[in-house]
Amino acid sequence: MSFGPILTRDDGQRIQRICPPKELEGLLEAVFFLRGPIMDSAGGDPETAWQKLGGAASGIPLIAPIQVHGTAVLEEREIWAVPTRPKADGILLTRGNCAGSLRFADCFPLLLSSSHPRPWAMMLHAGFEGTAKGILSDAVGFLRGQIPGFRPDRTAAWIGPGIGPCCYERKKDQDAKTALGMSNFPPRSWTDLGESVRFDIQKALRIQLLSLGLPEERLFIHGLCTSCNPGELYSYRTGDRTCRTFFVVRCGPEVHNIRPWWENI
Ligand SMILES: [Zn+2]
Repeated sequence: MSFGPILTRDDGQRIQRICPPKELEGLLEAVFFLRGPIMDSAGGDPETAWQKLGGAASGIPLIAPIQVHGTAVLEEREIWAVPTRPKADGILLTRGNCAGSLRFADCFPLLLSSSHPRPWAMMLHAGFEGTAKGILSDAVGFLRGQIPGFRPDRTAAWIGPGIGPCCYERKKDQDAKTALGMSNFPPRSWTDLGESVRFDIQKALRIQLLSLGLPEERLFIHGLCTSCNPGELYSYRTGDRTCRTFFVVRCGPEVHNIRPWWENI
């Protein structure tokens, strides 16, 4: 279990799957559609992306919330699928009937999953703002309510690609969000540079996951900085205004009933 290799299809579309642990094989499918012609032509619109990928034709309803850099999480229900677009930054998947999706261009995709006490996966859009507002602790609070018996020590987590500390500084002056980050990010995840602050969002998420009780050996880090790797990844800061990396997850007992093409590569 880890991140699979970045694969390039004949048409140039890059794909990267998450390799689930043994106990979640056949129950968890998670894939990133990175920079490539399908994502370029979708222009960041999830319904278009789903159509072009063939997900809509295979009959899988797509949950694709409007992301607001908040901390709200949706549960897997067909009424939340497109064309409905509720506002949220996380999705809890437990049945495998719907696919959950979120979009990224510098913010961090975060996936938590376990087979205990039944299969579930929670995907989050964790950027600077969501992390500063405490998306992870809010999401785990939601999870405890929905999945009684949740065990952090039996949970795996994947922190996807996002903007690294190499490329992420924020001015102190006239930016209330910087102050929020300085008070809510773990102290070891930011550096005061005087007039600005360098934030390491990935490190903040890692520290928060470990302090929840996730075992280090079940925590996987993608590690590529979006801003340093524009050939593979979309990055808002390096000029991608609309196109996005598309993260799609299905989890639950029904996952094996439909296998889209990207699950067989
Ligand atoms: Zn960088």
